[in-house]
Amino acid sequence: MLTTPFNKSYMAYKRTEHFDEQTTSGLITSYKQAIHLLGEDPEREGLQKTPERVAKAMQYMMQGYQTDARMILDSAKFHEPISEMIVVKDIELYSMCEHHMLPFFGKAHVAYIPNGWITGLSKIARVVDVYARRLQVQERLTIEIMSAIKETLNPIGVAVVIEAKHLCMMMRGVQKQNSVTTTSAFDGEFQKNSTRSEFLKLITARLS
Ligand SMILES: [Zn+2]
Repeated sequence: MLTTPFNKSYMAYKRTEHFDEQTTSGLITSYKQAIHLLGEDPEREGLQKTPERVAKAMQYMMQGYQTDARMILDSAKFHEPISEMIVVKDIELYSMCEHHMLPFFGKAHVAYIPNGWITGLSKIARVVDVYARRLQVQERLTIEIMSAIKETLNPIGVAVVIEAKHLCMMMRGVQKQNSVTTTSAFDGEFQKNSTRSEFLKLITARLS
């Protein structure tokens, strides 16, 4: 049994600072107009550079479209004859709700039971990131992570649980400040009650 509380330092892969010029200038124009339509003056000192900052921040947060999660897993596949459950828990997650373009954030917990092939633990976190950095709904995000692992590592089972808070719920409408949305996807061996509860017990257990 291998349980890994997810270490933040895994996330420190290189930040993309390369932005497509045409995309950036188109976004700048749009955000300037949006600021104006919302009743502000985009030329006001504090806002002058805002459209450009937002244009770049949004491209950074949407960079998942440029990356193929399956390629990440395929490029770091190792043959290893183990069939113990591998759990990577507490993977920090930041995504953007596709209905309101507002963030949702929380934690992902991923487990798989290898069938001859394993991948680096940091690669699991990268896969979470690749799908999170797109316009998403939490349900689809959960399934996309599961499917990528299932199709590349062909494991005996895969499980993904995501717990997240949605700013679109917290800041507008229902204003349920503390409600956490939990989604899950189980495949193969994890469809069995005993395997699934072992996984759920592991991700809810506190280590110290
Ligand atoms: Zn929303």
